[in-house]
Amino acid sequence: MQVINTTSARTQYYLEREEQYGAHNYHPLPVVLNRGKGVFVWDVDDRRYYDFLSGYSAINHGHCHPRIMESFMEQAQRLTLTSRAFHNDVLGEYAEYITRFFGYDKVLPMNTGVEAVETGLKLARRWGYQVKGVPTNKAKIIACGDNFHGRTINVISFSTDEDSRRDFGPFNPGYEIIPYNNITALQAALQDKNVVAFLVEPIQGEAGVVVPDEGYLAKAAAMCREANVLLIADEIQTGLARTGKMLACDHENVRPDILLLGKALSGGTMPVSAVLADDEIMLTIKPGDHGSTYGGNPLACKVAITALQVLVDEKMAENAAVQGEHLRTRLLAMNHPHISVVRGKGLFNAIVINHPNKEAAWEICLEMKENGLLAKPTHGDRIRFAPPLLISRAQIDECIGIISKSMEKF
Ligand code: PLP
Repeated sequence: MQVINTTSARTQYYLEREEQYGAHNYHPLPVVLNRGKGVFVWDVDDRRYYDFLSGYSAINHGHCHPRIMESFMEQAQRLTLTSRAFHNDVLGEYAEYITRFFGYDKVLPMNTGVEAVETGLKLARRWGYQVKGVPTNKAKIIACGDNFHGRTINVISFSTDEDSRRDFGPFNPGYEIIPYNNITALQAALQDKNVVAFLVEPIQGEAGVVVPDEGYLAKAAAMCREANVLLIADEIQTGLARTGKMLACDHENVRPDILLLGKALSGGTMPVSAVLADDEIMLTIKPGDHGSTYGGNPLACKVAITALQVLVDEKMAENAAVQGEHLRTRLLAMNHPHISVVRGKGLFNAIVINHPNKEAAWEICLEMKENGLLAKPTHGDRIRFAPPLLISRAQIDECIGIISKSMEKF
């Protein structure tokens, strides 16, 4: 199968420059974007594409949402960073807003997703020693196989993805890995009295949008409570309306002890993450114990308030639920012999490609790019379909046309 990949001289110029001077730690599609609006992005040749990745779910609100841009610009011209050495007049407003929004006592603001994960793990260990009474340095945290929680050495210490770990050791102790979506394994792991937390993605995103059995999260939460173990939900990718509810945990009425948010919390403008917990956990961290220069900066705080407001005002969770259902129905109706699985929740979806050519998913993505839709394969054979949450039914139908046309060659 020959995929036509039309790369203009202009595009080639950008690709080569990046290749020469940038580290080779990603393998992007050969498209160079320079503008975005809503569900669309445009390349340097002014070709328009549907964005079906949404910056790994950082662009839930769509590109350059006008209200978020307005907040950003207004605050950017007033005060952007004070560090936490001094107070600023937005952090308190934000902290009150987000804690009421999600129903927790306190928030600890950070920047990237992996920093929120590290913060959650530190909090769990602190709580383990100071509240639960685990002997010093014996705390253990349970994580799941095929997880993705970020890229620091500590976080890849409990990754099961060899590409993420090769030649980055030695790794940190204190973690036990159990299979995802396996309640029996969790039950067994919880027998150890030194376990302080269970860290879990409500849906495993980077693994290829793996949705666990109905009831898994609720059962896991109940078992953790019973064992006096904290449930840490990593909602960095699943949260903020992506799956058709504000949090993916809401589908099972689960309230995690520690909630991790990131990505879309800034509407895609800058790295903003948050860790939410109640006082019993959060107040184990004292001044000087943990922090970040940019965490809680007034620009981030202002933008995050607006980003949360926009999700509610524009009913983005509701739209994600309806359009996601429609997308999966249409994908299933294609009945394509090389699509073996269609799965997902809300607008967090993936198809699994079953084709003798191991490069098929990549080639399909190249073909979709040619036809005006950007998506990215993961783990070789899975393609994620996660457009911005304001996508309409007519746009989904148009995208199904693009996907069908692109798959025809296969
Ligand atoms: N946790 C989850 C579930 C993620 O999907 C990601 C990123 O994809 C992260 C954590 C890490 O976030 P960041 O790349 O902002 O550090």
